[in-house]
Amino acid sequence: MKEKQINVITKIYNNLYCIKETESVNIYVIIGKDRLLVVDTGYGYHDLKDDIAKISDKPYVVVLTHGHPDHGLGSFRFKEVYLNHKDLPYLLSSDNRKMKESVVEYRLEKMPELKGKLGSDEYYASNIDNVAFLDIKEGDIFDLGDLKFEVIVVPGHSYGSIALLERKMKWLFTGDVISNYNIWNHSKFPEETPPLDVLLDTYRKMDKRKDEFDEIFPAHGERPIDKAVIKDLEEMILDLLHNYQNDEVIHTFIGDAYRHVYKGHAFLYSKELLQDALKREIK
Ligand SMILES: [Zn+2]
Repeated sequence: MKEKQINVITKIYNNLYCIKETESVNIYVIIGKDRLLVVDTGYGYHDLKDDIAKISDKPYVVVLTHGHPDHGLGSFRFKEVYLNHKDLPYLLSSDNRKMKESVVEYRLEKMPELKGKLGSDEYYASNIDNVAFLDIKEGDIFDLGDLKFEVIVVPGHSYGSIALLERKMKWLFTGDVISNYNIWNHSKFPEETPPLDVLLDTYRKMDKRKDEFDEIFPAHGERPIDKAVIKDLEEMILDLLHNYQNDEVIHTFIGDAYRHVYKGHAFLYSKELLQDALKREIK
């Protein structure tokens, strides 16, 4: 049996690689003429800098799609990381030993082969206190010399989520806002999760721009995925507002959630998030 690795590198195109962390998180490395763009850092169990070096020796810039621990805790391995300031408090609050122990435990249940490899003392002792987090906003451009990535703010899964659009390649990197994987929107409302109409507005905004991209690269699950997913996710939220009565409670490591399934997509939400949307009659 082949030994399981923490990070697995896959070439998607000559200029686009995916580094899959613990069979779960998609980290992307895009090769431009002058430099690389690294999209997300994962939990950071393994030193991502080693993986980047295997792909290219060009300089790179690191950008987080949002501040959740599975995409941003690995920032501690870098000096400078771009993140929308609205997600920085969340990332800082999850940067502690308790969170790290619970995510390691959760992962080892799924991947017992990694026992002894995850959760080193070095990992538990790490923190992001010394990382310079640089803010990003709508319309910012990451210019790699040939490829140019435009920042589009897409709140809804978190307050500070962003997507990255490359018009020439027709690629859109979406973090956890648009994905075929379960969408987790059940952390504390409204401190950590925006109201549902914010998410709906994001799906409508991206649907309007759908001629600008062909392939979507999410932060979990299969990649790339078809852009038709955006319409499905918009419908999923509208469906939830009418058909939530039979949704069941499931347990996750960040707490219990209701789970709404629509056209093969699953949306995890809290009672408070739904109640707020029903009360305000969002459409
Ligand atoms: Zn997330």
